[in-house]
Amino acid sequence: MSDTSTVKMTPEERQQFARMVREAETLPENYLLCRTVGHAWSPVAPDREPMFGRLLVWECVRCTTKRDDIFDTRWGGLIARSYRYAEGYIIKRDKRGNAGALARTALRVVWDRKHNG
Ligand SMILES: [Zn+2]
Repeated sequence: MSDTSTVKMTPEERQQFARMVREAETLPENYLLCRTVGHAWSPVAPDREPMFGRLLVWECVRCTTKRDDIFDTRWGGLIARSYRYAEGYIIKRDKRGNAGALARTALRVVWDRKHNG
């Protein structure tokens, strides 16, 4: 489901949206901001040696989530990327597993209510 399709939500989707809003309302301020607009990455020292390539570690200055980028030092190509999320950062998906777009809309609504409402 795309962001813009929420104006034509089914009753079930409206219930799902309400659940996402309730869950988003429980997020700490920094998590809510990162979920809404993305992380604020800053470089930190790598805490391990990769099997191959070079490891760059980025940490979000707001929520402390870490992003590990392993890249080829010669050509710069990304070999692997993984995330180490801060405790409680992840919002659970619904049973159908497609709540991502709804989650973003719910996050925007909750952010707006808290700051402009
Ligand atoms: Zn963050």
